Formats: sequence, structure tokens, C-alpha cells
Amino acid sequence: MSRLTPTFILIVTFLISFSAVATPVKNFLNPEPSTTGSKKNSSETRTKSKASDSQESPASDRENPNPEKKENLSDDKSETVRSRVSRRSKTSKIEDSPKSAKTFENSLPNVSNLPARVAYDASKENPDGSGHGKGIPVLCYHHLADNGNPMGGYNLDPSLLEEQFKYLKKLGYQTVSLDQFYSYIKGESGADFPKRPILLTFDDGSLTHKTVLVSLLKKYGFRASIFIYPSTISNPKYKFYMRWPDLKEALGSGVLDLGSHTLYHPKLPAMKRAEIRKQLRESKAILEAKTGHKVKDLAYPFGLFDVRVIEEAKEAGYRMAFTVNPGKNVPSTDPYTVHRSLIPWGQSQARFNSILSASPPGKIKLGIADGSWVKPGQAFSVNVEGLDPATIQMKIRGKNAIRSKKSATEYVVGVPDFKTKVSYPPLVITGKTPDGRRTETQFLFVNRQAFNREPD
Ligand SMILES: [Zn+2]
Repeated sequence: MSRLTPTFILIVTFLISFSAVATPVKNFLNPEPSTTGSKKNSSETRTKSKASDSQESPASDRENPNPEKKENLSDDKSETVRSRVSRRSKTSKIEDSPKSAKTFENSLPNVSNLPARVAYDASKENPDGSGHGKGIPVLCYHHLADNGNPMGGYNLDPSLLEEQFKYLKKLGYQTVSLDQFYSYIKGESGADFPKRPILLTFDDGSLTHKTVLVSLLKKYGFRASIFIYPSTISNPKYKFYMRWPDLKEALGSGVLDLGSHTLYHPKLPAMKRAEIRKQLRESKAILEAKTGHKVKDLAYPFGLFDVRVIEEAKEAGYRMAFTVNPGKNVPSTDPYTVHRSLIPWGQSQARFNSILSASPPGKIKLGIADGSWVKPGQAFSVNVEGLDPATIQMKIRGKNAIRSKKSATEYVVGVPDFKTKVSYPPLVITGKTPDGRRTETQFLFVNRQAFNREPD
């Protein structure tokens, strides 16, 4: 049961992080009108429910006081979903009884209203007049199951995945391996590198990655990367997840690359450094020992990281780490903050297509590191090149964050005061290229005020 929790939080994460973007997803999952706030008041990308740590973590982690648990969830459109998350976490403490599973499903936001299918029609796409093939999109999937399974908005109906594969194929996309992706962002890809590359990633170790994904990949000549956390694979209670023999069989297909998703899917920035280290090192060692495959890359649980997590990932020997911050990846992308776009249930083709066809952001340089611990009032510089200055917006959790503009490319950005508790404020930079193509790039910070200690 507790495996449901991180995924569920990600649902909320997704909803909130994209609520500023025109997409029907928010309507599918949260159709009720907000009573307060505006829909533009978007995105704490990683919200929090009490269940997320207490359900899935060992006792030692539970004992850590986590200030986020006091989070006051009241100021925006996501209130309804968040309070449902909260209610859900109260009902999910009895593990593995059919009754509690039922309760969980019923508590998902409007699961019964999810559409059965979304039609994808590549014939209307102009394959040349857009940003297709410029930079590499990385897609982040979870379970491949229909509406009847308990992962709600984080399921994707297998038939829809196939439609997306057909669509990608028709547009000329070719999937790349983690090794190829790495060579690309290091600027070392060869002449034979695909013209329209894409990296497909699947998190959490769903059993459907063996039963559904492998055959679909083979059918379309694609490959994908899976990010696994050993605690689910080792625990027979989690019936929706692979066991070790399943994982070995899936990897034996030859169409999957393997990466780590930590030991048990914690929120890494909320941990002490020694715990972060353990999560990163032990998961890598266990996965390598159990599968015989080398593990070079990491996906941050919930997409959460900070500067310590990045340092520890480097020390542990990872070469890349994946966030869930949307944006296209280019040869200058930092290997430890790779951008990924979530693909949830009910995502419209328009949104799916906008992920693929977005332009890379030109060149963005932050005056502080991605993953920094910040506090309200703090200001830093942001340099943006390659976008039309008249179209540039920079928002931190949905609020305009531009304090002043020093030149056409140089901005001073300030961390706003938050009315509610915000633990992981994202900075979203949007704009258009001079030829009119839209771009969106997200970064992530940790709000010092939300934690009653300094990072160690
Ligand atoms: Zn995950």
C-alpha cells in the first residue's frame, strides 16, 4: 500500500506544477472550481503529505521531525487535491486489506471521471515547422495499467502508450540509451546520433514494465530506461511491482537500461547527508549485485534534490541524475539536473506534443546552483540568451519572480514570501524564441524556512 504514496504525491506534484500551463489534465483530475486563489497560482512542484515518509520509510526516518508535515495547504487551486491526499493518508494505514485498497481508490481525485482514451493524431502535425528534434525530451512514465488499477492519475493505459509510440514513430523519433543520452549532453555524440532523439524513462519498478512495456518496445524498435528502488522489488507485499526474477527477466530483453531510484524512495533533501549517502550508495550496490547490470545513473525520488544530494550522487559514482523539472536537454545540460517531463493519465495530445516540440531554452545561467537552499527575500541573477526578451517570464511557485532587468539578457530574480508553507519552490522560466517557438524550463530550490535546520 505504501508504494502508492510516492506515486500519489507525484500526481499532485504534476497537477500543481503544470497548472499554469494550458492542459486538460487539471480538469480531469481536479475539475472542481477553486474557492480561493487563481489557477495561475501554481506550482509547488513537490507537495507533501504526511503519508509520504511515514508510510514508506524505516522507523529511523519516521522519527525525524519533518516540518513539512505541518504544511498549511490552503491558498490555491490544488487545495482540493491536497486535502484529498491528506484524507487518503489517514485511511491508508491498514496495509493490504482489500478494504483499504478500495478506500484508496475511492479517495483518488475523480478517478471515475478519467477518460478511457485520448486520441493521438500525428497526421495533423507538421514535422518540420516546430522544435521536434531540437534538444532531447526525456519522458517520465510510471504504471502501465488501465483505470481499474489503483495508481490513478499515474497509470497510463497501455493502449495510450502504444498510441504515443505510434505517434513518436510517425514523427521520426528514435529512442536513445542512457549511454547515448550521456554522450549527447556531454557534447560527444557522433554523426550517427538520431536526428530526432528521445529518452523514455519508467520509474518505480511496476510489474507492467515487464508485462507490457518490453513487448511494446520491441514492437516499435524502441528502448527505455527503468529506475528502480530495491525496497519494493524485495518486498512481496507490493503486488503491483516486480520481484528480482521479474526485473532480471525484463532486463534480459535487451531493450531496457537500468538506473537507481534510491533504496526506498525518500525525499532526499529532507534527509541528513549520511542518510542521503546511504540511499545513493546502497541502492546502486544492491541493484548491481542482484541484477549483474552496471548502474550508472539515478532518478531522484519525487524529482527532489538539493546541492548536497548532487554532491553525494557524484561521490557515489553516478554520472547523471534525473529530475522531474520539465525542459528540453541540450549539450550544456548539467548531468545532475537532467530535465524530465511527466506523462500522466489523461494528458492531452496538445500537452504531449508541446513537450516534444518545445524549443530548447537557448542558454540559461542561474546565479545560484539549481537545488540551492534559499529563503524568501533572497535575490539572485538569471541570464537568459536566445529568447525574445518581451516574452520571458520567470515565476517561482507561480508568482512573478523578476525584480529587475539589467539588460535584455540579465535579470535579478527574488524568492517571494510564501503565504503557505512551501518546501520546494520551483523556478519556471518560459518564453519564445525569436522565431516564435515556446520554451519552458524548470529549476528547483529548497526553502530554508520550511526546515528547522540547516543542510549538513
Ligand atoms: Zn518514483
